[in-house]
Amino acid sequence: MQQTLIYSSPQNEFTDLSILQIQTEALKAIHDYLYEQKLIQLMPVMLSPITDPLNHETSDARINYFGQELQLTKSMIFHKQLAIASCTTKGIYIMSPNVRLEKPLKRDSGRHLIEFSQVDIELREVKALKFMELLEGLIISIIVRVKEKCTKELKSLGVSLRIPKRPFKIFSSEELKKKYGEDFEKETSLKEIDPFWITDYQREFYDKEDPKRPGHYLNYDLIYPEGFGEALSGGERDFKYEILLRKIKERYQNPDVFKFYLDKAKEGKLVASAGGGLGIERLVRFLTKIPHIRDVSPFSKVPGEYYQI
Ligand code: AMP
Ligand code: MG
Repeated sequence: MQQTLIYSSPQNEFTDLSILQIQTEALKAIHDYLYEQKLIQLMPVMLSPITDPLNHETSDARINYFGQELQLTKSMIFHKQLAIASCTTKGIYIMSPNVRLEKPLKRDSGRHLIEFSQVDIELREVKALKFMELLEGLIISIIVRVKEKCTKELKSLGVSLRIPKRPFKIFSSEELKKKYGEDFEKETSLKEIDPFWITDYQREFYDKEDPKRPGHYLNYDLIYPEGFGEALSGGERDFKYEILLRKIKERYQNPDVFKFYLDKAKEGKLVASAGGGLGIERLVRFLTKIPHIRDVSPFSKVPGEYYQI
């Protein structure tokens, strides 16, 4: 009999090969699409003196390298901003492995791991809508490819995939909050049948504040339908020194930590950009309709568990 399960770990025992075949096609679709869009691929940075402060609490994964403190990468936001500013390429992307030591209470969310990968993209000197357009094309090309190449695997998982209609719907977080309260993201995800955008979240200092509407942000999340929730977060970026410094202070973060990056901004060496990161394991979970992200990859690490290889 053909073996259809691959060794995983004592936590989730085995992973269905159909899921990994779908992941393989999805990754190929991502590379092909971004290549056609003429984006340049960078290799991932896994250790860095600074990393994404995030807008929720995680414990930092720090190591001491012969006296220098480095952190495991939570995202490559600062590297992306520095790289995109330094040359006139249209855009860059990285298949970026991230370590985020999420709180154990996220164990049952079904969509959190403590290590995961995202395709992290940044486009030079564009507005939010340009990035959103590129992303919609990316999502559709992934779904089209998986439908075409993985008929057998989708059938064995009992999944039928819908090709979303473009443009994806756009909601503001403010309007959804009025309608559904604090759980607006989840409620809307349960109602919609295609991926959609939610804009204007109050979060990290590098997301661009709307100069016309102080306190509002030119950022966005892409949300999967059917209750699968967040797929991507991103935004236009602030890049001017005074604005970045003010926003760091407003968040009670320490500007000294970001000195090298802030110095670049002060020297006028950052530029406008827009980007975002699409989580790979969450994408595969959505494509395969697997309830818990744990079961999408071998060796997955769900928050708050004891890990064995
Ligand atoms: P963020 O910019 O923090 O929203 O991260 C970018 C994307 O990475 C998210 O939209 C998710 O798809 C994915 N992601 C973030 N945190 C996790 C996590 N703990 N486990 C799995 N995927 C994650
Ligand atoms: Mg997010």
